[in-house]
Amino acid sequence: MWTEVRISIINDRFSGGPQTILGPAGCGPDVAVLDEIADTTDITLDERDERLPILLKLLEGHDKDYFERRRDRFTDEELEAARLLVVNYWALEGSIFAGPRVGTKYDMSDACKHCGAGARQTSAQVVDGQELHVLEGRRAAATCYNDLLVGEKLAGALAQSGATGFSFRGVFAAFDRRGHIQLPWRQICATHTVPPMSPRSTGVELSQPCPCGRSCFSGREQIPMRLAYRASDVADIHDVNISWEWYGYVNFNGDVYDSVLPFPLFLVTPKIWRIFRDAGATGFDWIPIRVVDE
Ligand SMILES: [Zn+2]
Repeated sequence: MWTEVRISIINDRFSGGPQTILGPAGCGPDVAVLDEIADTTDITLDERDERLPILLKLLEGHDKDYFERRRDRFTDEELEAARLLVVNYWALEGSIFAGPRVGTKYDMSDACKHCGAGARQTSAQVVDGQELHVLEGRRAAATCYNDLLVGEKLAGALAQSGATGFSFRGVFAAFDRRGHIQLPWRQICATHTVPPMSPRSTGVELSQPCPCGRSCFSGREQIPMRLAYRASDVADIHDVNISWEWYGYVNFNGDVYDSVLPFPLFLVTPKIWRIFRDAGATGFDWIPIRVVDE
């Protein structure tokens, strides 16, 4: 495993331009790339690279002129050896808008009255028909609520694999005037929730804790997410599982169809990762959990 640090300098905000520090930090075109669309200069380094402390020193006092993100990267052997992998979708095209405000139905009888954690989907998944370009050419994708969508071919491979812990639902696109049209996609719905994670997890914060204790978790840009689970809690798992904790921004006033709901994370076995990889699915980070005693 190695930790990737990405520094994105906002070109037109940085006085003198990014070149004024790239040279002194020894960051050439091997690590510094211009992103013309975002108008940033992205420098990608290993956390252990000796150029990193020099670069960060040169960026002192420029807090508003750059972003810093850190994430762990793994070899296939490390992914293969993991008990479970957190599925993190980050495709550049973004996630497709879907869920309660687009027409997906939910049963809220067991959900938290304050945040909506525990909402149970009862219909097919409905996605915004205006955003279908986000799915174009992809084998798999996620919605803005981390619902996992797979193309029909990948769905077929999953169904034939004997993998456990999920069922499929249909996916429909909603159009203003033409109603709902079924898409050649399937939603993977997990049937198993793993127990709460170990407090030894790092890189996760609880922004505005709900009284239920289950929602408002989020990852952090500058600290890689490293989830830990007790060995006894992952002894009896399926190939597809979801986390007990629900993540993301929440805006729930009781009317589910006018709300922003939190969502759980998917935790899958390496078998699922292999099926996605072999199908050519891209845009996902697969992050091994750490198994701990407590
Ligand atoms: Zn709650």
